[in-house]
Parts: sequence; structure tokens; C-alpha cells
Amino acid sequence: MAIYKNRTDLHMHTLSSFDGNFTAEQMCSAAVDAGLATIAFTDHFDVDFYEQQNLGTRQQTSYEDVTCAKEIFADKIRVLVGIEMGQPTYEPELTEKSLNRYKYDFVIGSIHNLRKTPDFCELDYKTLTQDDVYSLLDKYFEEELILAKWNGFDTLAHLTYPMRYIVQSGRFNTDLRRYDDITDEIFKVLISNGKALEINTSGLRQPIGKTMPTDNYVRRYRELGGELLTLGSDAHFTQHVGANIDDGYQIAESCGFEYVTYFKDRKPVQVKIEK
Ligand SMILES: [Zn+2]
Ligand SMILES: [Zn+2]
Repeated sequence: MAIYKNRTDLHMHTLSSFDGNFTAEQMCSAAVDAGLATIAFTDHFDVDFYEQQNLGTRQQTSYEDVTCAKEIFADKIRVLVGIEMGQPTYEPELTEKSLNRYKYDFVIGSIHNLRKTPDFCELDYKTLTQDDVYSLLDKYFEEELILAKWNGFDTLAHLTYPMRYIVQSGRFNTDLRRYDDITDEIFKVLISNGKALEINTSGLRQPIGKTMPTDNYVRRYRELGGELLTLGSDAHFTQHVGANIDDGYQIAESCGFEYVTYFKDRKPVQVKIEK
């Protein structure tokens, strides 16, 4: 049983994502079964892989399938039409053109890879030293700050994403406190721009065993004045729709948040956290 009322899960993928497995309708059905009140579909649009992933076509099928599912499930659940823009700052013109193609409710901003480099999930951590890992993270957090300043999204997704794979490799003992200044700067930019921070709960079902970012970052964002917070399971399978969202709510509450946020027509709507 869910602990919280009116729960939102604003991060999930359909077959239109290269790593998706189910249709928007199947995911909606799972969301209704999970008792969610609001969901957002956020298929991948990793702009620097536009050609390789045939994103022009994928974007169209995603938009059409999600819009169709939204109508079918209109009396059962609030469905928001979103997109996960990966690395938008690497190809700003293509990003802008693509975002203007459809009318989205919600845009996620993500960094999955450094420039001209594979996804952090594809790097061979066995060949890396701890110094190499820090040098990757130096660049990663710089890119996150550039992304935050770009400001073309509604929520900043899964901050600390590379840690999922760095921890999983089991080879390093990485201390992220050396990045506290830059993460503070990222949060200040989000706050002054009126953008949200995402708690991505997918890590809770993976070896890292933690949300991205972890609660200490959520607390710090709040301390600095952050008010907009989105929650997302990052489900790629029906069985993960809404997974660990209650844990996300618990973190939000324990960090001093009274509301979680969803976006409709790119505008934030605050939903009171209630049990
Ligand atoms: Zn992502
Ligand atoms: Zn995602």
C-alpha cells in the first residue's frame, strides 16, 4: 500500500526510447494499478546521438503514442507529455528546434555522457584509476553547471548519475564532498531560475542503493531556498512504474519539503505532501 496521497512519478520511458520496453498504454495501465495520481512520460532525446538513434522518428512516435494514451486514460490518471533532453547544451540549436516541434508539458534536463564520449554506463571502469574517476567527475559537474545555466528544462534529472556506475564497479571509494561548491552553485542557479530538482529513485533498485541525488543534496537544495522538487522512478519496465516513489516522498519530507511539483504546460504545480 502506498503511504502518500496524490503521488506523482514524473520520469518514465516507453518503447520510443532506445532502452524502453513497453508502450505508453501499458505503462499507464501499470501506473493506475500502482495508484499514482500523475505521471509524465519522458522518452530519451540524447541530442548528441540524434542520427545514431534516429531521434526525429522516435520523437514523433513518442509524442503521438503518449498523447493517445493520455486521452485513453483521461478519467483514470493525469498524464503529462514530457521529454528527457540528454546533453542539450552539446547541440543547442538542434535542441531548440526539437523542443519547438511539439508542445510539451514537461522537459527533463540530463547529462548521460561527456562531450564526444559514450554514456557513463558504457565506460570500462576496470581500466580507470581513482584519479581518472575524479577527472571524469570534475568534467561531469562542470557540464551539470552549464546545463543548469542553459535553463531550457523544467527539472534537473538524476544529479550524480555517474555514481551509479562508479559505485557498481566496486573499485573506488569516491568522496563527492570535493564537489560541494559546484553543487551549491548548481542549486543556486536552479533556484534563481525557478527550476526544479529531481529525486530519481531508480538507484534504490540498483546496486548503488541510493537515490540520485542522495538526501544530503536534497537537504542542501532546500537549505539554499529550493522549493520545486520532482520525483521520478525512471521506469523502463511496467513493474518499475512508481517504484520507490514513497521513499522519494519520505526523503522530501525529511528534508523539509511540504510539496512536490509536477509541470503542466511547462509551468510548476505544487502538490501538498500528504499521508
Ligand atoms: Zn536519464
Ligand atoms: Zn530516464
